[in-house]
Amino acid sequence: MPIKTKVDHIIVGQGLAGSCLAIQLLNRGKKIVTFDEPGKNRASKVAAGLFNPITGKRMTKSWKADEIFPYLIQFYSDTERLLSKKFFHPLPIYRPFVSVEEQNEWMALSAAEGVKNFIDKVFTGSVYDQTNDLFGGILTTQSGYLDVSSFMLAVCSSLKKENVYRENNFDFSRLKVSIATIEYEDTEASSIIFCDGVRANNNPFFDWLPVRPLKGETLSVSMDEKPGAIFNRGVYLVPTDQDNSFTVGATYQPNDSSEMTSTMARNELEEKLRALVKIPFTVNHQNWGIRPTTPDRRPILGPHPIHKNIIAFNGMGTKGVSLAPYFSGQLADWLEGKTEIQNEVNIERFKALYSRLSSL
Ligand SMILES: Cc1cc2nc3c(=O)[nH]c(=O)nc-3n(C[C@H](O)[C@H](O)[C@H](O)COP(=O)(O)OP(=O)(O)OC[C@H]3O[C@@H](n4cnc5c(N)ncnc54)[C@H](O)[C@@H]3O)c2cc1C
Repeated sequence: MPIKTKVDHIIVGQGLAGSCLAIQLLNRGKKIVTFDEPGKNRASKVAAGLFNPITGKRMTKSWKADEIFPYLIQFYSDTERLLSKKFFHPLPIYRPFVSVEEQNEWMALSAAEGVKNFIDKVFTGSVYDQTNDLFGGILTTQSGYLDVSSFMLAVCSSLKKENVYRENNFDFSRLKVSIATIEYEDTEASSIIFCDGVRANNNPFFDWLPVRPLKGETLSVSMDEKPGAIFNRGVYLVPTDQDNSFTVGATYQPNDSSEMTSTMARNELEEKLRALVKIPFTVNHQNWGIRPTTPDRRPILGPHPIHKNIIAFNGMGTKGVSLAPYFSGQLADWLEGKTEIQNEVNIERFKALYSRLSSL
């Protein structure tokens, strides 16, 4: 096929990772073409979109929060202005305490250097009528949610307008790779970047990477009252753009490879929601999706061991909303030769898994 389009980069996958990278490259004046086959159950379509700097059962500051959270706030706000669409919702997250001991612990912890930038207030008595918070709770800052579907739709519309979006399955048999160029159908590029989530396991160039599928489920529920914060304890209750509609999530089902929702997940989420809120709710829908996780819970960035113009951007795990902006920025800077890829996220750390015998 004769070459009709010459671009700097081809992107495969327009989930959270590919969408953020597309914006980063366009902002740097690069020419791109994006290929995507938008599956209904891709992780990004299912995600509640929460970004929370204080996470985990032990409620610690999340990894690199001091850099990543100010970065994502700037990135999504700028992208809203660029695309003239609303999808970013900064909002406090309220975590009720379950005991006086926990309350005391947080009174001390909240003043600690590092953590205090992410805590708005610690309450010692009930604040929200809708939740069980007899002992008060903590309210975070630099938190909120991204309406991920609206974000991806806005990025997709802008790519379509420039005629650089191709909605189809990327066919590896049509890819021609040489040291200087990448050719795919009628498009020539200097590099190709795979943002293909769990489908990396079927990507002949990156099937050796430890991108581990982790299934999760969420519920869409409706309630008559809308709390002024995201509630989070056991499960999160995140508003959506539709009035009185919320996302409740999420489950972690590492040993479940079934491509459907389960009664067990629904029961777990409903039970945890009943412990969190006092008001009645109606379950309208149940969703499932597969997160692309890594053994060390860090993203994967960088070139294939042999083909240096074939690049991976993957492993967003359970936190794509917060990780994708910062690390797509790092990858875009690296592509321009402006920076090194940090060791913690560099694909190099998994190089020992690569075998020339089993992979391209
Ligand atoms: C239930 C659940 C709840 C979650 N909640 C949150 C949350 O609240 N906050 C948060 O930060 N994260 C959350 N996550 C995690 C988040 O969804 C992921 O980190 C993120 O979406 C991963 O994005 P991605 O672009 O890497 O992958 P994906 O979303 O899987 O996107 C990859 C895209 O590439 C396309 N693709 C792959 N191969 C090809 C090919 N050969 N040809 C064409 N297209 C291809 C796929 O079809 C897809 O569109 C949640 C995940 C789940 C499952």
